[in-house]
Amino acid sequence: MSKKTPNEEHCSFCGRPASQTGMLLSGLNGYICRDCADQAGKIFKEQSQQTRNPKFEIQAADIPAPKEIKDFLDQYVIGQDAAKRVLSVAVYNHYKRLKYNQDHDDKNDVEIEKSNIILVGETGTGKTLLARTIARLLKVPFCIADATTLTEAGYVGDDVENVLVRLLQAADYDVAACERGIVFIDEIDKIARKSENTSITRDVSGEGVQQALLKLLEGALVSVPPEGGRKHPEQKLITINTRNILFICGGAFEGIERTIASRLNSNVIGFKGDETRAELDRDNMLQYVQPMDIKKFGLIPELVGRFPVLTALQPLDRDALRRILTEPKNALVKQYKELFRMDDVNLEIAPETLDLIVDRAVKYHLGARGLRSIMEGIMTDIMFDLPQQPKGSTFTLTPDFARDK
Ligand code: ADP
Repeated sequence: MSKKTPNEEHCSFCGRPASQTGMLLSGLNGYICRDCADQAGKIFKEQSQQTRNPKFEIQAADIPAPKEIKDFLDQYVIGQDAAKRVLSVAVYNHYKRLKYNQDHDDKNDVEIEKSNIILVGETGTGKTLLARTIARLLKVPFCIADATTLTEAGYVGDDVENVLVRLLQAADYDVAACERGIVFIDEIDKIARKSENTSITRDVSGEGVQQALLKLLEGALVSVPPEGGRKHPEQKLITINTRNILFICGGAFEGIERTIASRLNSNVIGFKGDETRAELDRDNMLQYVQPMDIKKFGLIPELVGRFPVLTALQPLDRDALRRILTEPKNALVKQYKELFRMDDVNLEIAPETLDLIVDRAVKYHLGARGLRSIMEGIMTDIMFDLPQQPKGSTFTLTPDFARDK
């Protein structure tokens, strides 16, 4: 410890005079120098890391490679390769960014920004399934919110900020973990404003919600009531920093194909030859979606700008639907077989029966969502009688039986 010089201010922690330490911060009864303040900061940080929930602690070895993430998704979701790749990279980068921020807290270091994602795809093509499947794998808190239930603060409905309450709950109220979480917001297209022109009247469900959402996306300190619901005075609030929270949004954006088509057509006519136009896959315009299309659909430009990654899900064709029935780890057919097995009955489903089920789903434009209701319709009666079936017997589901039902 250095010798104290009279009349000079000293750091109350290390005792050095201001001439050696540089600037001193003053408190009520003393001073602190920069070195001691840094040291104290480190101790606090270490301490808070020790008390963190180990469930959400990220070690370098925990970071799954994009290929591992995609392989995992492949077990549950059929097709949608483009979306799977984008998601795998996004999650991988999210982990890396968190790790980087954990190790580099110097303001002069490169700041790695997050890449929020929008998934565009018809309903029932697997957007929510992808999000749910990712959640099984994650070591960060995860929650799903529905954009249609959100309103701006002060209106009837769910405050946008309540999305964070849900994430906080998923994090077992560990704020540090919550601040590294991932939020999936479904049906983001439903908060589009109805015309591209800003309206003069207040728009409760659309633009106002987008503005509120923007605040979360921009990385803000947001105070939320820990139990959710409305904020009211005298209530204890928890402050959450959203800077590192990754947002993934899904939406069907019904009718956006027309916007995409007209943009591509005018581009092709204006700048390129006719051969480019012929190369377009007319049946699946969604794959050409660009941020400007989303903007035209009615998301405000500031919000679109906050989602650097935009990817589309393919419509499910017959082949995909057929595979969805049998292949995923929790495929419908596997689920029914298991239900039968519990009653000691073996369920066989003829391949032609599966074709028939797919036919119906295609005919009624129900997509993958319809497969389950069609299966239920066919199986209800036989399941009703299942406990009375002879143990060890086999029930074969034939196309005729299925057609009957
Ligand atoms: P949305 O795109 O509307 O979010 P979901 O992910 O909720 O659609 O899909 C509805 C259901 O259809 C899922 O629970 C799942 O059983 C099935 N499904 C949809 N797409 C796929 C897919 N690509 N692979 C496997 N199952 C799928």
